[in-house]
Amino acid sequence: MSDRAALLSALSWQIELGADEAISDTPQDRFEESSPKSAPAPSAASATPAAPRAPDSAARAPVDARPEPANPAADLARQAETLEALADTMKGWDGSPLRETARNFVFCDGNPAARLMVIGEAPGGDEDRIGKPFVGRAGQLLDRMLAAIGLDRNAEQPAKAAYITNILPWRPPGNRTPSEAEAQSFLPFVIRHIELAKPDVILSMGNTPTKALLATSTGIKRMRGTWVKHEATGLPLLPSFHPAYLLRQPADKRLAWADLLALRKALDGAMPDL
Ligand code: URA
Repeated sequence: MSDRAALLSALSWQIELGADEAISDTPQDRFEESSPKSAPAPSAASATPAAPRAPDSAARAPVDARPEPANPAADLARQAETLEALADTMKGWDGSPLRETARNFVFCDGNPAARLMVIGEAPGGDEDRIGKPFVGRAGQLLDRMLAAIGLDRNAEQPAKAAYITNILPWRPPGNRTPSEAEAQSFLPFVIRHIELAKPDVILSMGNTPTKALLATSTGIKRMRGTWVKHEATGLPLLPSFHPAYLLRQPADKRLAWADLLALRKALDGAMPDL
């Protein structure tokens, strides 16, 4: 991205955040002001909101410690050796009734070589119609969020690209939130998807992917902004708000911005030590 394009993306994200009026001639870096270097007495409160925090035990508590019943999708998922094979397997899998009501199979979009893999919830109406994830209003906001940190789902360079998928490849009727059982049934496919795409980091957007991937019952409001190791793949995962939620609750875009900065920092080399 050119400097000009990067500045325009950052500006449009600020407008998105509601900062649409200049109140001073000179910009002020509030993150810098509150950094330990410039703060008089370092304290926990002086940490920038973007810094990866160690997950607390409550946030990582398993929903249920009893052994999981065998998941019929797991063997099939393991057999897929390529993304194309995995897509074919998932499309043909008749283990979910959602397949009968959805219009199109929605597997991925963006650059599969990207360092960042974004995982959302499930296709909505627009995605179901077009067959690609995050193409409706929430997807457009996601694109602006990514652009604000110099990423574009279609960029050729893996460092500048994003690869996008969902926990469910089929739209739940009426765009309802997927049940935990539905998310669990597709989880082996999603894990295989991550293994085959081999991203460096995962951005998990919203409650459904975060709860399923981290086997937690803790909600996104507590989980967001904290880097967590995704046990099945060993990759760093950052939970953040879902763009559809941010469209309804624009005040929380401030927190989403802190998460995006944490993501940028990790991609720039400061990977969280998990
Ligand atoms: N919401 C999601 O979680 N995924 C999409 O693909 C679209 C909207």
